[in-house]
Amino acid sequence: MPMHGGAFGERVVDLDAQAVALAHAQHRARYLAVVGPYIRGGILARDELHARRPGSQAGLLGVLEPVTLRFGEVLHEPGLPITHVYFPVGCVVCLQAAAEGPEVGLIGYEGAAGISLALGVEVSSARALVQASGTALRIKAAHFKKALPHCPALQRSVYLYADAKLRQARQTIACNRFHAAEARLARWLLMTGDRARSDEFFLTQAFLAEMLGVRRATVNEAAGALQHRDLIGYNRGKLRILDRKGLEAAACRCYARLERASVRVRTDAALQRH
Ligand SMILES: [Zn+2]
Repeated sequence: MPMHGGAFGERVVDLDAQAVALAHAQHRARYLAVVGPYIRGGILARDELHARRPGSQAGLLGVLEPVTLRFGEVLHEPGLPITHVYFPVGCVVCLQAAAEGPEVGLIGYEGAAGISLALGVEVSSARALVQASGTALRIKAAHFKKALPHCPALQRSVYLYADAKLRQARQTIACNRFHAAEARLARWLLMTGDRARSDEFFLTQAFLAEMLGVRRATVNEAAGALQHRDLIGYNRGKLRILDRKGLEAAACRCYARLERASVRVRTDAALQRH
């Protein structure tokens, strides 16, 4: 399975393109109307955005900035101060323990990057790298710290999410060490698809090899096996999940474990709002 060429990192979602255009136009209210359903599914509730809290001039809405993040962009570096918290809307961010090395966490609409600020930690312990281009809402670190005490539902979601991220990191490290490349690749593709809310994304063999911590030849072999079973398709750099159930069966058990932790955060966050 040749995996090279193509404008990797670009996503294929019309709604996302619309959101990008509105974000660029700085039409924040309309932008939020478009991305609202996306935010609703995540930890950043729309209610929080519009609420006016004591000590907060305009809730989070006034200090959230829509941004477009590109493949390969580094949001946080290990050992450097966290300048912004990012809430992905249509992009996917991966965490690496070091500047180079396998993925130890994936962040999409369900989470946020930089939330260790909520725990009083102002320096990043991981590298946050954009792996699928798209939109996000970001907030300056100082504004986040000031706003959080006035947003109890968000605060609770952030703490739950921080706990889920720790579980995810532990599970992912064990997965990278013990599970076969093909099962890990299936797990990684499913998790990326879930976070991008798309069954299509652009990927390169080199990037996959780095994320899984294996040689390119190993990725090529694993992807070829999944393709041979008609679980995934690959054309001009664009990877498509063809058979989600089949891919779930091919993935290691870490996928189900990691998703359970993620669903728990979303369910808890949703319950609080009703
Ligand atoms: Zn695994």
